[in-house]
Amino acid sequence: ERGEHEKLLSALNQASLFFQKQLRQHPSRERAVSYLKARGLTGQIAQRFAIGLAPPGWENLLEAMEPYQLPVETLEKAGLVIKREADHRLAEKSPYYDRFRDRIIFPIRDARGRTLAFGGRVLGDDKPKYLNSPETPVYQKNRELYGLFESRQVLRKPTRFLLVEGYMDVVALAQHGINYAVATLGTATNANHLNRLFRIVPEVIFCFDGDDAGRNAAWRALRVALPVMEDGRQIRFLFLPEGEDPDTLVRKEGAEAFEKRLLSASALSDYFFRHLEEENDLSTLDGKARLFKETMPLLKSLPKGLFQRLMLDRTADITDTSRDTLLELLGNTAPAK
Ligand code: ATP
Ligand code: MN
Ligand code: MN
Ligand code: MN
Repeated sequence: ERGEHEKLLSALNQASLFFQKQLRQHPSRERAVSYLKARGLTGQIAQRFAIGLAPPGWENLLEAMEPYQLPVETLEKAGLVIKREADHRLAEKSPYYDRFRDRIIFPIRDARGRTLAFGGRVLGDDKPKYLNSPETPVYQKNRELYGLFESRQVLRKPTRFLLVEGYMDVVALAQHGINYAVATLGTATNANHLNRLFRIVPEVIFCFDGDDAGRNAAWRALRVALPVMEDGRQIRFLFLPEGEDPDTLVRKEGAEAFEKRLLSASALSDYFFRHLEEENDLSTLDGKARLFKETMPLLKSLPKGLFQRLMLDRTADITDTSRDTLLELLGNTAPAK
């Protein structure tokens, strides 16, 4: 509903201003500022990303929102406050408490710059490391890309986007002048994310963490990307050294070296066949058939076009079959889910 969305957005906007103000003024700000500095971020970049601070305490935001006279239910619906369990209510001042406490705050903004949600990071090694807003009427997490608004503010005509895992990856890259990174934030990449990026640029480079989670995410992203691989769109994969993520790497080696790595990122097709060949023994017929069985639904999920044709040819090549055989078998294959 329209009026309700407006109220939620207005509450989220006030909350974002509050968090930013705390980073400038709160007595506990020193610790937060040192943390950001230690991670290589300047005040300028913090400001560009509207980074803020949720101070320690249970009702900071609740109290700060009082003058705006928004019903507390609106704050709850916006994901900003949480209702206390019934048996904790009597003794406490308010039946609600702040969701974000004692964390660095990253606002998640839509393409128009409206704050929809927040991510909050602990200042140390506590768990959970990140806390995100829940889904709300204005925030569906699988639709938003962190950093897209901030990127568009700086780059009029980007030629590619880098898809990374985390807030700090996007912000650290921007700190080093790489302003075309966006992140999906704990949700898997989906076709909607990719279509949005491809409406702006012809090329997307996946750059996940150099760990098992990141490598698994890359293969999952590839599967999701196949159906949107229309001719003319390019997807590549940059694999990082073990233990690195874009944030640690760009800080270690600088923007120039990092962008140099991008030049050698694998084309989707190369990663596709490299992965399948690693997992199947192509010196045996069984291995070829197994690879073929795994490949067919994936090839079937590609849009019709030259790219699909070329991928089929390559599959025929490495399994010692003909394209006609593959096309015939493809007709009887269900596309990948
Ligand atoms: P940092 O560099 O600040 O330690 P990171 O971004 O490298 O964090 P990862 O563990 O690589 O952290 O996770 C990547 C992304 O996944 C995070 O930026 C965050 O968006 C999301 N994420 C990680 N842990 C959690 C969590 N416990 N709850 C929700 N989201 C999380
Ligand atoms: Mn990781
Ligand atoms: Mn990481
Ligand atoms: Mn990191």
